[in-house]
Amino acid sequence: MLEIKNLHVSVGDRKILKGLNLTVKDGEVAAIMGPNGTGKSTLSYVISGREGYEITEGEVLLDGENVLDLEPHERAAKGIFLAFQYPVEIPGVATMTFLKAAMNAQRRLRGEPELETPEFMKAVKEASAKLGVSQEMLRRPLNSGFSGGEKKRMDILQMALLQPKFGILDETDSGLDIDALRVVSEGVNSLRSPQRSFLVITHYQRLLDYIKPDTVHVMAKGVIQRSGGPELALELEDRGYQEYLAEEAA
Ligand code: ADP
Ligand code: MG
Ligand code: MG
Repeated sequence: MLEIKNLHVSVGDRKILKGLNLTVKDGEVAAIMGPNGTGKSTLSYVISGREGYEITEGEVLLDGENVLDLEPHERAAKGIFLAFQYPVEIPGVATMTFLKAAMNAQRRLRGEPELETPEFMKAVKEASAKLGVSQEMLRRPLNSGFSGGEKKRMDILQMALLQPKFGILDETDSGLDIDALRVVSEGVNSLRSPQRSFLVITHYQRLLDYIKPDTVHVMAKGVIQRSGGPELALELEDRGYQEYLAEEAA
């Protein structure tokens, strides 16, 4: 489903991704772990289409189609969703208005009819109950006055409503308390399906106690250096990333 082939990415004259290869199958939850500054966030931005990254070589294929040629909103319509992409407050925009606009934008791009208000309300009600998003939160402007955990909850609600085909979570790790961690994890776990894949990017093993990955990939120095099963995450927790950094330097 998602295939990244020989991806090279620079920012300015700085090479960040240096021939990265990764395959994530339908239904798979893949974790990427790696030290800080290794290009994990860069990878998530390049997949979702954020500006400012120069792709000098390589492909990102979603079901065989190179998404690097598509605009960010077109990628979103294909089902690519980057969580925590907009952790900012948008004071003027009512949360409900934002959610409805996001869902209808996606439907329009897919050539589907827009959601009628009752249909939309029903979907929001169900998903927000499941994720512990209160009616009061929904009535506030988007993210305004939300705690870190509430923002993540809202983001997972958005993901639940948009039903992405390929969800990317670029974990901020720091500042995520145990409740927020649980909400994020339960949100992801409830969305797991044979048709949907996730890329879970994290610096720490902790998140993977909650979201059990099918595969774990070690990223260092701009490439995937090693791939394995969940046991690899535990090994990394014990031994750290030093050997992967040293390998590259040698
Ligand atoms: P990670 O998420 O693994 O911590 P990042 O992808 O955030 O790594 O960053 C990889 C490297 O690229 C870092 O050294 C970072 O400073 C650099 N970098 C990322 N984005 C930019 C940018 N927009 N301009 C300059 N340097 C950047
Ligand atoms: Mg970082
Ligand atoms: Mg990062």
